[in-house]
Amino acid sequence: MIIKKSPAEIERMAAAGAILVKTMNLLAAKIRPGVSTHELDQAAERFIRSQGAEPAFKGYRGFPGSICTSPNSMIVHGIPGPYKLARGDILSVDVGVVLEGWVADGARTFPVGPVTPIAHRLLARTEEALHIAVGQCRAGNRLGDVSHAIQKHVEAAGLAIVRTLVGHGIGRSMHEDPQIPNYGRPGSGPWLEEGMVLAVEPMVTAGRHAVRVGEDHWAIYSQDGSLAAHFEFTIAITGAGPRILTPWHEAGNGRAAA
Ligand code: MG
Repeated sequence: MIIKKSPAEIERMAAAGAILVKTMNLLAAKIRPGVSTHELDQAAERFIRSQGAEPAFKGYRGFPGSICTSPNSMIVHGIPGPYKLARGDILSVDVGVVLEGWVADGARTFPVGPVTPIAHRLLARTEEALHIAVGQCRAGNRLGDVSHAIQKHVEAAGLAIVRTLVGHGIGRSMHEDPQIPNYGRPGSGPWLEEGMVLAVEPMVTAGRHAVRVGEDHWAIYSQDGSLAAHFEFTIAITGAGPRILTPWHEAGNGRAAA
């Protein structure tokens, strides 16, 4: 069952999203060669708590970090730790914020200094796919329209959509119905309606789509070792169209050219 939110509830989710945006911008300023993912985690947790909010991932099914930090071929769910970023890495950062019981979820893959042309294309294309998906989050469309738009843009560039990981509805719980695959047929799936809030999150590799789980039972990697990117917005479907509740791109940090 998809739980719809009132305009007042969407405002409360937007307040959680605003803290998420500030957290992401703070991390963007810290990401550079030599910084450990543990340092990023600590900075994020300190900031989120200073805002009267909580990191949504901390303790979620026993997850030990406040954010997920997933470098290079790691797609998602990386536990922050001693790993130090190196020049030329890419780092996917996933942040969840709970404010007064309402959750916002967002992710972004950062280049660490100059990166290879393949990495650059992977990041740009994945972020573009997310923005194209936002445009499909309208009442009267169907969920398959969102999924298909992502798949089309990613696969046209010769990149692969990760199939075993999906986006999700979001609200008082981080994961609500519906599941949102990043591939699918247009005109299929549930109808989108005003008041739905969706965490749309393309996960893309520069190789093949198969994944493997790491030894810590959390980290998920591309099976072939290819680079992976992850971009995510929490998006509300409103009477005025799609509204991004975690709009870090408006701060001018790293929005890919269309
Ligand atoms: Mg998510």
